[in-house]
Amino acid sequence: MADSITWTLVCVDCASTFPGDELRYRCACGGTLDVVQSVSPGIERETVDERLRSRHPHDRSGVWRFRELILPGADDAIVTRGEGRTGLHPSKALAAWVGLESIVLKHEGENPTGSFKDRGMTVGVTQAMRLGKRRVACASTGNTSASMAAYAAIAGLEAYVFVPAGKVAFGKLAQALAYGARTLEIEGDFDDAMTLVQELCAVEDVYLLNSINPFRVEGQKAIGFELLQDLEWEVPDWIVLPGGNLGNVTALTKGLGELHALGWIDRLPRVAVIQAAGANPFYTAWTNGAELVPVRAETLATAIRIGAPVSWRKALRGLHATNGVVTQVDDAAIVEAKARVDAAGIGAEPASCATVAGIRRLVAEGVIAKDARVAGILTGHVLKDPGLVVDYHKGELAGIESTLANAPQRVAADLDSLRRAISG
Ligand SMILES: *Cc1c(COP(=O)(O)O)cnc(C)c1O
Ligand SMILES: [Zn+2]
Repeated sequence: MADSITWTLVCVDCASTFPGDELRYRCACGGTLDVVQSVSPGIERETVDERLRSRHPHDRSGVWRFRELILPGADDAIVTRGEGRTGLHPSKALAAWVGLESIVLKHEGENPTGSFKDRGMTVGVTQAMRLGKRRVACASTGNTSASMAAYAAIAGLEAYVFVPAGKVAFGKLAQALAYGARTLEIEGDFDDAMTLVQELCAVEDVYLLNSINPFRVEGQKAIGFELLQDLEWEVPDWIVLPGGNLGNVTALTKGLGELHALGWIDRLPRVAVIQAAGANPFYTAWTNGAELVPVRAETLATAIRIGAPVSWRKALRGLHATNGVVTQVDDAAIVEAKARVDAAGIGAEPASCATVAGIRRLVAEGVIAKDARVAGILTGHVLKDPGLVVDYHKGELAGIESTLANAPQRVAADLDSLRRAISG
């Protein structure tokens, strides 16, 4: 195995380096780590395009299709469920609503467990196998646990998930249970769970699969790789995504930088990160040009209900490299955007729709030009949070005006009543 290692772990804060397969999540100084490839991958863009026609499971995966740029030499250890290969959807209705001439949305909710977390998890669980780990764990607002539970089950690993009690959307909790993960509901919020799981993995032989694990980030780079491939390597002006723990923006910007360095793309798109106003420590740090100060997070978009994002320094570096921006949108804006995304026939979970609310805000402010070519990332599936959808359409979502409500209607079980109902 050692022969195939072509990367090192590098501290984001002090640049200390560690062997590529050393088991560590942080530097001695406390900084988070990057995976840095030490040799050129020896692969051409044409090769990953040709793999689109292959039927080999590694080529069919929208992550492992790019394996030389992600985890070279993993081969037989690869644990895949055919992640990626998500659609890139245009929408005239949403373009008009956000004030753009056109828009495309990369729907990461179309991954096997319904969120982009699968792209990171296939690599994280593969790395767990390479390291000979038998137990894996994560703290989660829901989607990480759903994804880890599935991939651990495929690989035959024991999975432990730590979720904030009562704060996980129903679809996600259901998945963790269904896929057989030991599910521990912490009497605290996500940030408490995140602290605890790091402490646990330091003293028990359990592999940590949050996005502090740099191999997760490597897998999530494939969102950008596949998006660019979908666009036939024509770089959009903007890529927009929500930010919670900030692993995904870290991955996206790191991957884009690598494509640019390889000459696969001729320039970098600008990247915009959208935070929920109730969970906005990165927005505040960005706006003030200051260190991140954790907040107590509160938002209906539970996937980004995070007050102390682990990857904020890496995300900051990525945004500087891509001339990016950070903005925030409140829950009313997120929920309205969600109603629009859903009614456009696309559908996505609340946090995903922060993307669309954020694009609308940035267009209105003139940051994104009306004729810009914009790709938004929808991070999770519409069925992840069915409770919020039904509450919204019944007008029962506390503190939110359901301006686009589509409430179910009770009808007596006879034809006359039905005819009256559909004409009314
Ligand atoms: C995890 C997640 C996010 C946030 O991604 P980060 O990497 O934590 O910034 C956004 N939306 C959905 C649906 C998610 O599952
Ligand atoms: Zn360091």
